[in-house]
Amino acid sequence: MAENKNNITLADDEENVLESNNFIEKFIDEDLAKDGQFEGMTVHTRFPPEPNGYLHIGHAKAVCLNFGIAEKYNGLCNLRMDDTNPVSEDKDFVDQIVSDIHWLGFDWGDRFYYASDYFQEMYEFAIELIKKDMAYVDESSAETIRQNRGTLTEPGIESEYRYRPIEESLELFERMRAGEFEDGAMVLRAKIDMSAGNINMRDPVIYRISHTPHHRTGTEWPIYPMYDFAHPIEDALEHITHSLCTMEFEDHRPLYNWVRDNTSVPSKPRQIEFSRLGIEYTVMSKRKLRQLVEEGLVDGWDDPRMPTIAGLRRRGFTPTSIRNFAEGVGITKSQNMIEYSFLESNLRDDLNENADRRFVVLDPVELEITNYPDDKTEYFSVDNHPDFPERGSRDLPFSKHLWIERDDFMIEPVKKYNRLYVGNKVRLREAYIVECTGFDTDENGNVTKVYGTYDDVTKGGKAREGEKVRGTIHWVEKTTALDLEARIYKPLFTVPNPDEAENYKDVINTDSLEILQAKCEPSLLNTQAEEHFQFMRKGYFTRDNRPENQNKLIFNQSVGLKDTFNRK
Ligand code: ATP
Ligand code: MG
Repeated sequence: MAENKNNITLADDEENVLESNNFIEKFIDEDLAKDGQFEGMTVHTRFPPEPNGYLHIGHAKAVCLNFGIAEKYNGLCNLRMDDTNPVSEDKDFVDQIVSDIHWLGFDWGDRFYYASDYFQEMYEFAIELIKKDMAYVDESSAETIRQNRGTLTEPGIESEYRYRPIEESLELFERMRAGEFEDGAMVLRAKIDMSAGNINMRDPVIYRISHTPHHRTGTEWPIYPMYDFAHPIEDALEHITHSLCTMEFEDHRPLYNWVRDNTSVPSKPRQIEFSRLGIEYTVMSKRKLRQLVEEGLVDGWDDPRMPTIAGLRRRGFTPTSIRNFAEGVGITKSQNMIEYSFLESNLRDDLNENADRRFVVLDPVELEITNYPDDKTEYFSVDNHPDFPERGSRDLPFSKHLWIERDDFMIEPVKKYNRLYVGNKVRLREAYIVECTGFDTDENGNVTKVYGTYDDVTKGGKAREGEKVRGTIHWVEKTTALDLEARIYKPLFTVPNPDEAENYKDVINTDSLEILQAKCEPSLLNTQAEEHFQFMRKGYFTRDNRPENQNKLIFNQSVGLKDTFNRK
């Protein structure tokens, strides 16, 4: 798959699927082959989220990749909380991550780990490096360390502490661990090469002091390992064979390998990078998502406009649609900005097949059938899904008073309009052909009621011989109708790439939620949170899943019937 931008043309979808994961699988195949690095071994991957926020659709891509590779190679995939940074990590996030990945349909068996479980081992590997004269305690200030790191064109400057005796570093590091020093007083650095072309190799900091309590280890550790030191050790301790991560770690791979090869870790994992997923009209950085939540700009991490798994789920996305999406975007090393409509089309395909149909009038106006008996109600049996009669049917009540969509009537019809206007006939789906005979308006000229007459020969909606009725509309019987709140969403941002705006908060779409007071057929009363439906002619909707919303019928629009995203 060459250009990701073109991914959304589904014509070559099958090819994409065949090609997806290709370069990673090629590496793995080489590694498993005779004389390969992992000849005869079980492929073992891991998904390592930092529990400092909810997972988003980008993480879903990484989840599907890691668990997918394990499935494909009959291997294993661990879930590991990468909780080496005490600030902003939280137990609630851990629970949510677990529940989101299970919901996506993946399982790690009993291989659920925390990086913080390895703090002792990491500490010992750091001591090993000091003893080998490959690490030293540096008392320079953070500012000095930064300044002396050099640039892409100039080498760095060696620290005055670089050649201090091994014994001295050992003792200071032990005292750091004992909690004797303030945050920032000193750090442990790997002793590699201050003139390395790769700045990550210029004596990177591998341990720092922080007295912030940790959500699992409390105040036991006043020092914390840096990501680049901790990650290869975590992978090696879990006997990960392939450590898949995003492109920004490509320049860190030499350091990953250095730590792996210079400590006595029990295995030698291989890091492979792939591109981050981006989606238009949203942001994906956890920091920004967190701000949206904390500043009340959205209704929580699970706001249906959020790109989080929880938000997509509440909006009505299914695990299948997200997995298909992740497969469809494929795995590449090039920039990966995907149109929102590609995400939507995966959901639409799933719901078109799997969601039952219902009649809901989103913007109701009354239609009175003047020649229909006053006290009569009849019932029309309607299939739940036009293509699958085995999914059953329900009885729709019909009477003299109905709700129809406001825009299914026009006083002055525009060209090609073939729904209701005085003198025109329309099919009330599954019921009768009616002819529009009149209407009422209020003092502002707004239509308050529409009148029509029905033709009882057309029962079931079948026109008379030779009669052509072009328009078909849906309806809901008035006295049995239920109130339903329909929430219609637009993208949360007004521009395709909010990260490019000076401040992403300036391009928030303040008009991204519209609430409609709709009328629906009675059968929707007996529905569950997260049940999906096609509201006929109106789109796919999913019942809201917030516990506090279950006493009302609240439905979130999940996706439209057609791709309207790129219209206008
Ligand atoms: P952020 O920068 O938004 O905080 P992160 O990468 O730090 O995200 P982690 O919790 O560390 O978040 O991510 C866990 C895993 O998910 C990592 O392996 C990371 O590479 C992967 N990942 C994160 N974002 C994306 C993305 N947009 N596309 C693909 N994979 C991603
Ligand atoms: Mg990260």
